Amino acid sequence: MDAQKILFELEKLYPDARPALHYATPYELLVAVILSAQCTDERVNKVTAELFKKYNTPQAMLTLSQEELERYIFSCGFYRNKAKHILSASRDIVEKFGGQVPGDHAKLKTLAGVGQKTANVVYAVAFGGDAIAVDTHVFRVANRLGLAHASTPEKTELQLNEAIPKNEWSRAHHWLIYHGRRVCHSQRPDCAGCTLKELCEYHNKK
Ligand code: SF4
Repeated sequence: MDAQKILFELEKLYPDARPALHYATPYELLVAVILSAQCTDERVNKVTAELFKKYNTPQAMLTLSQEELERYIFSCGFYRNKAKHILSASRDIVEKFGGQVPGDHAKLKTLAGVGQKTANVVYAVAFGGDAIAVDTHVFRVANRLGLAHASTPEKTELQLNEAIPKNEWSRAHHWLIYHGRRVCHSQRPDCAGCTLKELCEYHNKK
């Protein structure tokens, strides 16, 4: 596996790769990322377009009851847990961080309902930090290409941190997501049309 060549190709393919979730502030991004678990970005964007009209700060969000918030986010799935996490994280932001989402990775992870993947996305996208969030696309594509050989997202993240220069982590995250969405599909990867096939372990083993 030649990580440099793979990254070079991915950058050529997706020079404008950026997050698909709509947000204007770190808080809006945090809420959108919590909502995006097991849900499409398109659906999240529709839900947050309504929700953020009135509730786009932790203080405003905390004026909603659990049930009221659930009604806004119902169509994103897992709405009970997501509402609980959004309200808990909002409470933490107000009580522990003066109403501002912390820009420090370790502090982000102390927020209720915020795990490694969510913290990585917010840290990298909202604050320009170096992190690779391993979602389902990153996990699948990285392991197929051979950038990682891991059975879990946690191990995949550690291996990607080794294989990819730190200053490329954030952009590589977006490149791998784009490639997973457009070419390297879960069920039927378009290997014949993939410009990375010469470099790809999965394809070369077939
Ligand atoms: S060659 Fe196939 S498996 Fe490898 S990255 Fe391309 S689409 Fe995915």
